[in-house]
Amino acid sequence: MRKPVYLDYAATTPVDDRVAEAMMGCLTMAGNFANPASRSHMYGWKAEEAVEVARGELADLVAADPREIVWTSGATESNNLAIKGVAELERPSDVHFVTSLIEHKAVLDCFKHLESQGYKVTYLQPGRDGRVTADMVASALQPNTRLVSVMFVNNEIGVVNEIDAIARICREQGVLLHVDAAQAAGKIKIDVGELGADLMSFSAHKFYGPKGIGALYVRRKSQLKLAAQIHGGGHERGMRSGTLPTHQIVGMGAAAKIVGESLGEENARILWLRNRFLNGLCGLSGWQVNGSMDHRVAGNANVSFSGVDGEALLMSLRDLAVSTGSACTSFSVEPSYVLKVIGVSDALAHSSIRFSFGRYTTEDDVDFAAQTVCDTVSKLRGESSIASNPF
Ligand SMILES: *Cc1c(COP(=O)(O)O)cnc(C)c1O
Repeated sequence: MRKPVYLDYAATTPVDDRVAEAMMGCLTMAGNFANPASRSHMYGWKAEEAVEVARGELADLVAADPREIVWTSGATESNNLAIKGVAELERPSDVHFVTSLIEHKAVLDCFKHLESQGYKVTYLQPGRDGRVTADMVASALQPNTRLVSVMFVNNEIGVVNEIDAIARICREQGVLLHVDAAQAAGKIKIDVGELGADLMSFSAHKFYGPKGIGALYVRRKSQLKLAAQIHGGGHERGMRSGTLPTHQIVGMGAAAKIVGESLGEENARILWLRNRFLNGLCGLSGWQVNGSMDHRVAGNANVSFSGVDGEALLMSLRDLAVSTGSACTSFSVEPSYVLKVIGVSDALAHSSIRFSFGRYTTEDDVDFAAQTVCDTVSKLRGESSIASNPF
């Protein structure tokens, strides 16, 4: 049996071979294995140096100062540290927060937790195009709003929010801004200084680095000292204790360097593949792309098919490794909350598929995927099969 074609790059990406090689140099006795916090011998100094090189590589990807990067275990932890780290410095009754209804669960569940502690939170409703705009943020601000948390790019629909303008509003109003950029880093050019966000979350495994490592950007100018969520040896300027995993960090740095160097070229290629895939569906009727096409990352096509049962569709698409809704909620049979929030009907949300494309996707892959989708959907609808490829 041939392996399914992997079209789930938004869930995770394979580790780039060059990244894996760099990581393998940091594990064994012959390699750079030591504790980066060991100050008394050269093993430790070498490990620390590797960590600092990687810190510089990640900082370069987003034009940050290396001193603004805090290593974490991933974007989930970064989001927790940013949101709870700000909130816990304040009394619940004193402050208000703003976020959106289409954030990743790692953000939404932090705010649910804060609400249970008595903090007030406003949840913004994006438009039908799936975009959170600066006007929405501006109208939700209150005199005691302490932090706005809006994601850069949505993980399900790939829509890019109006982050520049949101950042401008927050700066003008003296409100802190946190941006979950897990789906933006390596896909969109980011300059944190120019943007002016105070906190930004990253995850290595979304850009061909390993799982289990991420970072939080903490703007120096904001002079923020976040309340630690993990207490211990005081690593990472007291914001995140725990022995630094040199191999993971070196992997994230190497992945950041590679993706930064190839971003423009890679995006153009992936966009071409995505468009070829969508063109390949042209012979099929009754489908729609969810969310704005104009404000969308290259690698995402979230498509709803009318007149087919969602469960049957996914079962029949075994040759394609794709996602319904986001991977994190695929245990539940609920339709995706993101699609519901942007006004997609339950029936259509149930028969929606997120195709996401990346570094190792080929022309053959997208042609096969388009043909498979056309055949499958036609068959499920009881139509005769149609040719997919207009080329
Ligand atoms: C993947 C993802 C996360 C979680 O990142 P982990 O490193 O897997 O914890 C958070 N937010 C968004 C938008 C994501 O895509």
